[in-house]
Amino acid sequence: MGGLVIVGAGECGVRAAFALREAGFDGPVTLIGDEPHLPYERPPLSKTFPTAPKHIAGEDAYAAARIDLVRGRRVSAIDRAKKRIAFAEGGDLAYERLLIATGSRASLFPGMEKARTLRTLSDAETTLGSLAPGKKLVIVGGGFIGLELAATARKLGADVTVIEAAPRLMARVVPTEIASVAEARHRAEGVAFILGTQVRTVTETSIMLADGHVIEADQVIAGVGALPNTELAAAAGLAIENGILVDGCFRTSDPDIFAAGDCCNFPYREARTRLESWRAAQDHGKHAARAILGGEDAYQRVPWFWSDQYDLTLQVAGLPDPAAASIRRDLGDGAFILFQLAPDGSLLSASGIGVENAVAKDIRLAEMMIEKGINPEPAKLADPTVNLKSLLRG
Ligand code: FAD
Repeated sequence: MGGLVIVGAGECGVRAAFALREAGFDGPVTLIGDEPHLPYERPPLSKTFPTAPKHIAGEDAYAAARIDLVRGRRVSAIDRAKKRIAFAEGGDLAYERLLIATGSRASLFPGMEKARTLRTLSDAETTLGSLAPGKKLVIVGGGFIGLELAATARKLGADVTVIEAAPRLMARVVPTEIASVAEARHRAEGVAFILGTQVRTVTETSIMLADGHVIEADQVIAGVGALPNTELAAAAGLAIENGILVDGCFRTSDPDIFAAGDCCNFPYREARTRLESWRAAQDHGKHAARAILGGEDAYQRVPWFWSDQYDLTLQVAGLPDPAAASIRRDLGDGAFILFQLAPDGSLLSASGIGVENAVAKDIRLAEMMIEKGINPEPAKLADPTVNLKSLLRG
């Protein structure tokens, strides 16, 4: 096999590059990223500041694995007939097989174009670097990133107001009971909330709400979701549908081109989904690498997310259904997990909140139950004296 080329040197692309070597591939591997930095982890960007970048791998590791890491260059086109990619800066490169791992970017609603966003190391340096006691920060969006940013900004002493269009926080990702615990903690830490309110326009230093009310700020940051970077794939004629459409082996509509991580839309439990998840990006990268080398098994990992806000950690396994009822399991010291069952009685999701690692073990067991398709008895799920390990055995 000739050269394997990966576009996008984020979590997914880097893991795929190393996984190709771990799977025994000996030919050329080129990993191309448009950011100037050594590839780094994004999750710490909203959680701690100041902090040194957490590199996914040290510079020596790329050399040792003979991965040709190309930094600061943007791939601008894919010529599928000639099997070559072109660089925006000039030049091109042949590929035998290509992995698109271009990730996602922060999205902005019309009127919000002047708001800052937090996606890259450079964004974090600009945004968080200017926060200090007394500075006024307005965050648009009460999802994971907006709330992590709120907690970090409070630690830096800034005055923080979060504006959210939905009537409650984290509506897309966790059940109401969990969002309420997080909201109470943010309020206790001094964060102000304006919920159920749309934003009309944003300038660098002010925000106008739908009712015309204006709030002045030193900085306005939007955390209102992300859009998959699909333009390169779309221009090459690959199938797109809320992400680059792939099968269970991360193959696109072109058998020599794969796509994985935040940018792809993949099959999950008889449906399709697109995730913005650190662990999924890693797992996708490793799975896609094996598929590029001929692996045929379909990806089946259960989605798993986490968020850190102050000393609280939220963890979610599976994909919660906002309309489904929950079964609550209390773990002590205010920590609890909400389980949801699918119509066939199998475990659908588990969402937990608690201080530091309080929910980690049980969420891990719930994830394994979801993976195995276990139908747990609701009363046992609710009873903290019943070890979840016993339910895992079915
Ligand atoms: P990315 O990390 O976005 O990497 C894609 C790379 O490709 C980027 O460097 C991009 O610049 C580059 N690229 C794009 N187009 C081109 C091109 N044409 N040519 C060359 N390079 C290109 N997830 C969690 O599960 N838990 C968390 O707590 C969490 N916290 C987060 C906090 C922040 C602030 C952010 C931004 C994300 C967080 N995430 C979290 C999400 C997680 O980081 C992402 O899901 C993960 O980084 C996705 O990896 P990826 O490789 O698919 O994409």
